[in-house]
This record gives sequence, C-alpha cells and structure tokens, in this order.
Amino acid sequence: MSTVRLPLHAPQLEHREQARRFLADGERAAFHDAALWQIRGRRDQRAAELPEWEQLRELAAQIKAHTLAELPDYLEQFEANARRHGAHVHFAGDAAEHNRIVHELLSSHGVTRVVKSKSMLTEECGLNPYLERRGVEVVDTDLGELIVQLRREPPSHIVMPAIHLRVGDVERTFREALGAPALGDAQSLTEFARGHLRAKFLAAQAGITGVNFAIAETGGIVVCTNEGNADLGTSLPPLHIACMGLEKLVPRAADLGVFLRLLARSATGQAITAYSAHMHGPRPGGELHIVIVDNGRSALRGERAHHGALRCIRCGACMNTCPVFRRSGGHSYATTVPGPIGSILAPLREPQRHRSLPHACTLCGSCTAVCPVKIDLHEQLLALRQRQLEPAMASSPPSPAEPGAALVPAPGSAHRGEQLASALIGWVLRSPWRLARAGALLRWLGRTFPALSHRGPLRRWTDTRQLPPLPARSFHQRHAARQRGRS
Ligand code: SF4
Repeated sequence: MSTVRLPLHAPQLEHREQARRFLADGERAAFHDAALWQIRGRRDQRAAELPEWEQLRELAAQIKAHTLAELPDYLEQFEANARRHGAHVHFAGDAAEHNRIVHELLSSHGVTRVVKSKSMLTEECGLNPYLERRGVEVVDTDLGELIVQLRREPPSHIVMPAIHLRVGDVERTFREALGAPALGDAQSLTEFARGHLRAKFLAAQAGITGVNFAIAETGGIVVCTNEGNADLGTSLPPLHIACMGLEKLVPRAADLGVFLRLLARSATGQAITAYSAHMHGPRPGGELHIVIVDNGRSALRGERAHHGALRCIRCGACMNTCPVFRRSGGHSYATTVPGPIGSILAPLREPQRHRSLPHACTLCGSCTAVCPVKIDLHEQLLALRQRQLEPAMASSPPSPAEPGAALVPAPGSAHRGEQLASALIGWVLRSPWRLARAGALLRWLGRTFPALSHRGPLRRWTDTRQLPPLPARSFHQRHAARQRGRS
C-alpha cells in the first residue's frame, strides 16, 4: 500500500515531523485539504439555511455548561431512569476499568464475536486491542472504521476515519485483507464491504456502540450514524454494551432538538444524520449495559481555563476548517481526537507527550467560529502555550491534587531558548539607544548577508517565508532627516 502505516498507538513525535511525512505525498495532501474544505463549505450552506443558527449555538453552549455544572445530579438522575427501563449502568474511573468491565460482560455471556459501531471513547480506551488480546473478535462496522481497522491504522478524523485515503488505497486494502476482487469505484467497494459486514452482523453475539447523547430526564441514549450500523448491531445480537464519556449527558429530551440540528450540519453538512437511534432500555429479550467513563473528565471539569472543552459534541467541524489539520492530516497529531479540540484535550492529559500540539495552530480562530457549542478553541490553545512558558509554574509546580497540576511542565523543561530570546528582546526594548543600535545591526546583517536568515534556529520560520527588502535607514533616521529638511 502506498501510504505510511502507523501502529495503532503511534510513538510520539513532534507534530511538525509527523506533518512532514503526510506532506511528502503532495497529491494526497492536496486531496485531503480539498475534501475537508468542501465539507466545511457544505456546513456553511446548511447553517445559512437556519436563521436561528447562532441562537442554536448559544443555546447548545448554555445547555452543556449548565449540565456540566450540575453533572453529579444529572448522572444520578440518568442512572436511576436508565435502570428503571431495565438497563444496567456501570461506572469506570479510567480506560483500564472500562476495558475490564466490557471484557467481563462479554466473557460472562460467552461472547467471542462482537460488532462495534463508531465510538471515539473505545478508541481512547484502546478497547479493540484489549479485547483482541483476550480472544474476542471485534469488527468495526462503520465503513471508514472498518477500512482503517483492516489497515491496522488509527482513525485520522473523528467523523470520517478514512478521509486520508483514496479509492485506490481502499481497493488495495480490501484486496489484501479480505481477498476482494479488483473493484475500481467507490460504489462497488461499498457494496463489497456491505456483504462482508452483513455476515459479521449475523454471526455477532454482542454489539458495542458509543453514545452521542444520554438524557437524564428519561434514561434514554441516542446513537447517530449515517450507515444504520449501530441499529443493526444492537438489533441482531442479544447483548448491547453502550460506552459513553460522562460529558455526553443532556438534561431533557427537549434538548435533543438543539443538538441534533447542530450535529449533522456541523459534521458533514447534512440537515440531519441519516439514523438517530433512540434507545430506552434493552430490546425485548435482550440486555443493555451502559458503561459511563470518567478517564480524566472530572479533572478537566475542575480546570478553570479549559473546562469548556468538555462541551464538545465531537462533530469534527473544527478539524474540517482548520488550515493546519487540513494540510497535516489527522495522524500527525498522534492522538485519538486530533485537530483543534484534540490539541487542547491531549496536552491537558499528557502535557509532555503532546506539548507540540498547542503550537500546531495559526490562531486564525476559524475553529472557534464554527464550533456548534461555542468552545473558545483558539483562545484555549493560546492559553496552553502561555502556560508552557510560565517560568514560575515550571519552577514551583502545584500539588497533584490542585486543578491543572498535570499541565505544569517539569521544572527546567520550558523552552530555554525562547526564555533567553524573550529576556534579550526585553533588555533591548528597555533602552531607545539599544533599540536603535540593534536595528542598525540587523539591517546591516540583512543587507550584507541575506542568506543568514535561512540558517540556524530561525530557519524553520524563514524557509517558508520571504523577508521584505530591508531599508537602509530606520524610521527614526528618516523622520529626523525630514524634520531637518523642514527647519
Ligand atoms: S470542539 Fe466544537 S467543532 Fe470541534 S469537534 Fe468539538 S463540538 Fe465540534
């Protein structure tokens, strides 16, 4: 296959290094950029059709903020109502507990074959490899998820997991992994995948799904797909396990109207997701288990500057619009959730491993402008950069119990070069005489050795930019000469 294959848990590299690998295939990079930009355009069209669009965004942000503020109460309400419908509710503190609960449920029911619809939470927890190591066959039934699963790659986008691949890549994948005949077009490939999956659905003993929304008032859950795979995966096998992050709660059924209108329009530019399955309790004769996962969400809720990131409904709009994401590909982030929201969530969780991500941003603000729940994404990214450079925080980390403790870089790990450069610039700027001398030196260097700016640490910046011609005299010198001419 022509693409670079990444292991399911890629080792951490600087974002720009990963991006360079993606950009090495210029044709792919251009295709990826254009495909996502087209979806962003469709999103704009659908949003423009609703005069109340901005009110919906505001309402969604307020509902989510309110729910998160009252989260313990709404969790209790949801649990009681879900149990009333006959569902079993489990709580998992972290990914390991989530995986253990799911595996225990499967093994206690003698399940070795599972169909799974798209769930970023199970990706976050590494559920597939965990179950596979224990002899459970897990088949991802979302078409994009199936493709990346067959390639042993992580999804590159939270809504369109295989957006980095072209038809030829998919054809080769199906041929090599499933023995498919030569199929030259997307329609034939889809039909082949449907046939392959149909057998898996019929043989499955359990279905695992994610949850888009969980309603405290009713105890119901809503799963949105465009392929109906969640509906089939929960209708055929007798056991349904629904895995959700605790931020998926909304207070009332009436709130769904706000979120369902925003979600599909923001995600893919559709008026509504093709299938929105509402489930209240198990299907007749079946069993429903809902696993509610924390895995760092409570800690994020306590983050004063960043708790708003928990409002995310995983629509992917911030990725589709982000100029960095479109040109660097989702794998370059080496996180479950990539793009602008991932560049906030991942460094909050693992600050050292993902410290390059807040810098993978032009601060253009496009992500903030499209986010349906009005998360101030680019401002949060800027705040994360600032936190990385705060020397006081680097030298005196708060206790681990303090909100934000995980964010603080280890003492001495802040960028020394940037600190030195800031100190030097500050020293120069404090004296008009020094500023004038420094300006004269830089103008002379720039004119005498123009190639100098493409050497040393500045290269990363100057290699892709052209400096304007440097003037022979400074503004002050020209102004003084003009004044002299007048007098
Ligand atoms: S941060 Fe906003 S735009 Fe990005 S995925 Fe989440 S809800 Fe969508």
